[in-house]
Amino acid sequence: MNDHLVHFSNRNVLFEDLKHFLDKHNEAGEKLAVMLVNIDRFRRLNTVFGYQVGDELLEAFAHRLDHISRDKDYIARMGNSEFLLVLPQIMNAGHATLAAHKILNSLSEPFILNGTEHKITAHIGISIFPEHAGGVSELIQKAEIALMSARNSASTFSIYSDENTQLDVNAWDIEGDLDIALENDEFELFYQPQISLQTGIVFGAEALIRWKSKDRGYIRPDIFINIAEKSGQIEAITWWTLNRALREVVAWPKAWKPLKVAVNISAVILKDISFVDSVKSALSIWGVPSEQLTLEITESALMEDTTNSFITLEELKALGVGISIDDFGTGYSSMAYFKNIPANELKIDQSFVFYMLKNAMDQHVVNTVIELAHGFSLKVVAEGIEDKETYEALKELGCDIAQGFYLAKPMPQADFIQWLQDYEIQH
Ligand code: C2E
Ligand code: MG
Ligand code: MG
Repeated sequence: MNDHLVHFSNRNVLFEDLKHFLDKHNEAGEKLAVMLVNIDRFRRLNTVFGYQVGDELLEAFAHRLDHISRDKDYIARMGNSEFLLVLPQIMNAGHATLAAHKILNSLSEPFILNGTEHKITAHIGISIFPEHAGGVSELIQKAEIALMSARNSASTFSIYSDENTQLDVNAWDIEGDLDIALENDEFELFYQPQISLQTGIVFGAEALIRWKSKDRGYIRPDIFINIAEKSGQIEAITWWTLNRALREVVAWPKAWKPLKVAVNISAVILKDISFVDSVKSALSIWGVPSEQLTLEITESALMEDTTNSFITLEELKALGVGISIDDFGTGYSSMAYFKNIPANELKIDQSFVFYMLKNAMDQHVVNTVIELAHGFSLKVVAEGIEDKETYEALKELGCDIAQGFYLAKPMPQADFIQWLQDYEIQH
């Protein structure tokens, strides 16, 4: 076992130990990668299966990390479900990426905990020494920022980027600025087209929020949605988004009518008892038929509180609003829940789509989701399609709807209207 694979009950002790480790390698002029690996839904595992199972998982997970790491790597337990790895002798970011893949791939094999199989997923945030910071706490902080960004986006890992300096939560009062942004109407919606794979016809578009800050330019949602969810500002943002999407959908060219608009909804909003009524009134204000609206909710968010959110989704579905389960495949819905999910559509998580042609496991997941969905009369959307080969493969597999950079990147309303006018059916 790696010497450093210990649980530091006290952060200061860990930081001190890590500082020695960094100093040693710094003298040799090396680059190091600092990785935070966080096990998804660990709290849920503890609650559902008991702490003993949680502990068993931590031990087994530590074993796997130890097994795939090199002798010179530093591994430590950080918190509840978080591990810290420091990898010396990293040449470039590509090396760190490879290491992250190795860790994530090691999870493809399920864990046997207390006699039962559990499929575990994780997210990884990475910072590089000395590129991103010279000190232990700054490096960890930046890895944490990258982790937060990975967790809120479609990817399973993320390397800290200086582009994300806005993310430096200590230096930037995001919450305060969000209030100003709401007041000054600094948001915009970008639209990413969705195509019916089997016919090549435009199906609709997903609305993706952008914050156009005067000082910082376009800010992507993974940086502020999470904070807005915690502060409660998400409520105002959601109403803004929903109303803007419905207002803009009316202006889309009628040639492809009726195009659907998909709006992302945070799970916290489903708890609002007047949510369904508010959706109803927004539809009527803008004169949009309910069939033209789809609400996307992530599988993992949905699974946190199935009882209440299922009821709300059921009511929305009865209204005629489409329900799409976003990032499907990462949220552990068990069959028991799955058969009751009130949805029309499953959106396969991008991470499976990205590598489906290179990784048999991912291809298998994509295949299974398509079959499972069709078995329950649900449509399947594949997002994150970046090349023609993946597009063709998904078409072959019978997937229904395609979305991804290969077809088009998210774009402002005016560009999207132009795009619709120029679009020619793919074959
Ligand atoms: P999501 O709903 O899963 O959206 C898909 C994300 O993947 C978008 O990132 C999109 O730009 C990106 N994407 C699409 N195709 C490709 C591709 O081919 N390759 C790659 N690498 N990426 C692709 P975006 O716009 O940064 O949004 C990130 C997340 O933020 C969204 O994930 C969604 O969960 C959340 N979000 C976006 N808008 C809203 C909103 O209005 N309200 C709420 N609550 N969340 C939102
Ligand atoms: Mg989405
Ligand atoms: Mg998604």
